Amino acid sequence: ELDVVTFGETMVLLTSEPMTPLEYSSHFYKQIGGAESNVAIGLQRLGHSVGWFSKLGNDPFGRYIHKFVRGEGVDTSRCIYTDEAPTGIFFKEKRSSTDIKVYYYRKQSAASLLSPDDLDEEYIGRAKFLHLTGITPALSLSCREAVFKAIEIAKKYKVKIVFDPNIRLKLWTLEEARPVLLVIAAEADVVLPGLDEGEWLSGRNTPEEIARFFGNEKLVIIKLGEQGAYYRFKCESGYVKGFAVPQLVDPVGAGDGFAAGVISGLLRNESIPDVVKRGNAVGAIVVGINGDVEGLPNEGELEEFLQGAVHHRD
Ligand code: ATP
Repeated sequence: ELDVVTFGETMVLLTSEPMTPLEYSSHFYKQIGGAESNVAIGLQRLGHSVGWFSKLGNDPFGRYIHKFVRGEGVDTSRCIYTDEAPTGIFFKEKRSSTDIKVYYYRKQSAASLLSPDDLDEEYIGRAKFLHLTGITPALSLSCREAVFKAIEIAKKYKVKIVFDPNIRLKLWTLEEARPVLLVIAAEADVVLPGLDEGEWLSGRNTPEEIARFFGNEKLVIIKLGEQGAYYRFKCESGYVKGFAVPQLVDPVGAGDGFAAGVISGLLRNESIPDVVKRGNAVGAIVVGINGDVEGLPNEGELEEFLQGAVHHRD
């Protein structure tokens, strides 16, 4: 009985020397990167039970990813290995804490071969939440079909769908992305766009109008970076301020941390403002630490942060 199931591509991340252009960097360190596994690890650390799966290359990087995610306690029993394609990798070039570029080597990767046949209906159907991102439907046609099959399964078993659009313009154009992401958003119970994503998808430009565009019957939370977030659900709405962070180290992964905090709050049946506050807190903790998953707090660390952090931003 899992609280949350999610799936998507996780790659091996090779980070070059800080403040050195990738072209001139000779040393790299190895981590993993993938929005869905970040959220899975974040939720698992907060005490929830989570399943994550993907198609992995039958190679050292695939085994590394599998062991890493499993090592965090996430259920990886539905992962599939393939000999047909390698595990995707990507490089991160960090010129400053705000100027970070990524270079993908993921075309025709193992994960892009994921298809509807790889989904275990009962496994997804038994979860309370299905977490989806807009990255998976951008990877390939079969991945897109897998996302729609997962939505069908979630509907059939009344599993709530949380959707983070995560628009990646390196994978597709806005024109290609928009209609696909809007269909997924329409099926979701919870939608978590960033402000710019909300603008792109809705054509509107204030958090209030964007939230209204996505509809009244779902919880829409618009991420506003250091400012926090705006939420709307039925007749409830409002801004929840972000937390001040002592120093911004690595902004990447804030959105995934935010999603983990929000889903955690929902699983704990918290009020909507508290759900958003939990998202803000995990997002703020993540940006203060290097790496996408390294900064994700455990339950005790999050409680300590929530109790100690009286300093909201003005
Ligand atoms: P990502 O870069 O991971 O894709 P995103 O664009 O999806 O992130 P952001 O709005 O940048 O989302 O960040 C998500 C949440 O994390 C914010 O709503 C906020 O709660 C928190 N957060 C992000 N940056 C900061 C910051 N500098 N200070 C405090 N909180 C932050």
